[in-house]
Amino acid sequence: MRGRLPHTGNGDSGPSPGDPAGRVRLGDETVSLATLRHFPERFAKLFARARAEVGYGECLCTAPPLRLVIRARAGRYHLACWPGEGERHATDCDFHKTDPGFFGRSGYSDQAIAENEDGVAIRLDTPLLVRRDAPHDGTSTEAFAGNRRRTVGLLGLLHYLWEQAELVTWRPTWHTCHARLSEYAAQCSINGVDLPNVLYIVPPYRPEQAARNAAAFQAFYGRLGGRGRNGGD
Ligand SMILES: [Zn+2]
Repeated sequence: MRGRLPHTGNGDSGPSPGDPAGRVRLGDETVSLATLRHFPERFAKLFARARAEVGYGECLCTAPPLRLVIRARAGRYHLACWPGEGERHATDCDFHKTDPGFFGRSGYSDQAIAENEDGVAIRLDTPLLVRRDAPHDGTSTEAFAGNRRRTVGLLGLLHYLWEQAELVTWRPTWHTCHARLSEYAAQCSINGVDLPNVLYIVPPYRPEQAARNAAAFQAFYGRLGGRGRNGGD
């Protein structure tokens, strides 16, 4: 399947100005990753077609290209690093991953963090809903399968998100950090609840957006009160 797709790379193995770094291929089209993430709705048909006909996207940061998982979650498509291939991406590629054995992900079983084409299902050890008749005492209930955890604690969740958004390497602005964390969080659920519904990522400060950000936080906070009756514990 890959052989019939047009190649737009220049054959170099690493990115340089003007080459395909930051560009991905969906089906027979090459698109800027930044554009794809900023306007995902414009590319929904292209995503759907690539997923049905090819089964994956491709990252052009190296030659030959590397496969990318096409995830569909909450009505939106996402691209994710192909399992086990994060280290093969160029170091400045958004899909580059540091050796997974070196960081926290390796400490969790597939029960704790299940990754597939539907997204990432995380089993948090802390209830999302605390009932008055059965208050959670805040202590961890982490269980282990062998030497790997079967649940993820709050600190572990932050650690995981930070790693997966590749923020273990320096990113110059909170704007970048916020964008990358938001992009990854949109692919995740914790205890069956879409993560963006229960995780507030502080947006970068812009004076002209202060009122809108404050209203968005109040709306988020207001929704928390009803959380859990339909799932997530
Ligand atoms: Zn790449």
